[in-house]
Amino acid sequence: MIEIKIIVCIKQVPGSTEVKIDPETNTLIREGIENIINPFDTYAVEEGVRVKERLTSDNNNNSGEGVEVISISMGPPQAIEVLRESISVGVDRAILISDRAFAGADTLATSHTLARAIEKIGDYSLIICGKQSLDGDTGQVGPELAQRLGVPFIGYVSAILEIDRKRMKIKRLMDDRYEIYETKLPCVISVVKDINIPRVPSLRGKLKAKNAEIPVWNRDYLELDSKEVGLEGSATQVVKVFTPEVKHDVRILDGSVEEQVEELYKCLKNLNVV
Ligand SMILES: Cc1cc2nc3c(=O)[nH]c(=O)nc-3n(C[C@H](O)[C@H](O)[C@H](O)COP(=O)(O)OP(=O)(O)OC[C@H]3O[C@@H](n4cnc5c(N)ncnc54)[C@H](O)[C@@H]3O)c2cc1C
Repeated sequence: MIEIKIIVCIKQVPGSTEVKIDPETNTLIREGIENIINPFDTYAVEEGVRVKERLTSDNNNNSGEGVEVISISMGPPQAIEVLRESISVGVDRAILISDRAFAGADTLATSHTLARAIEKIGDYSLIICGKQSLDGDTGQVGPELAQRLGVPFIGYVSAILEIDRKRMKIKRLMDDRYEIYETKLPCVISVVKDINIPRVPSLRGKLKAKNAEIPVWNRDYLELDSKEVGLEGSATQVVKVFTPEVKHDVRILDGSVEEQVEELYKCLKNLNVV
């Protein structure tokens, strides 16, 4: 019987910066380009599998009984590939949350849709997200999920020091220090790259992933109002994505240090930065 559910949120992102925007919907064109699993989410998946191993190793039969790792992704049909990847490295089952109505979602609409799916899974103990995505890069989905589910959120987790079925003690990485927190479960965490080294899939894992049944949950199944999802349910919209032009007009200042400082000050003044 499953006593503990660990849910890992993974996003499929463009594998290159050469992305195009659909001029009609102003959303990223995700078809026909190389897509990858969001790099931070590979650490989230690995940590989910490691927590299962830790929680089941104490009953000395290492069977993994009683603990289940589930990966979920909201995305277009081809996002099923990143879910298969997660199964190949130890996730037990996966769910694709997909519907044309979800396209163009900002973080509010994304977290709303993911929260509904997590409530549908139910009885979860730990939700693991990556620190941020490679494309939207807001880092907002994790904390928004916790807010919607009414559970604690801890970001930038670099180590799970202790965990049992009721509580967890973590270490998190800040710019200039570490912090130690203890929290009761269920909760949402986002992880940084320092937390682990993702394993590579075994042959057995790849076969399991290839044959895995991955259900697709759409808006109807999740009983979501179209006004709350996708572009329609978004408070923000990406209107333009572009690579800023990098100008290289370099000037070498010469003369004494005082003369160079004076000349530099004049330049900065002309650029209105001082
Ligand atoms: C260039 C660009 C800029 C954008 N800017 C904004 C913006 O400023 N504001 C805004 O609201 N939206 C923005 N979006 C839309 C935003 O990318 C989507 O809403 C996205 O689904 C979630 O936000 P994120 O990519 O920033 O994820 P983040 O919040 O950075 O992701 C953190 C973690 O949440 C989980 N997660 C995120 N998305 C999913 C998913 N679809 N399925 C499963 N797990 C997921 C993953 O674990 C991920 O590591 C932008 C999109 C693009 C392409």
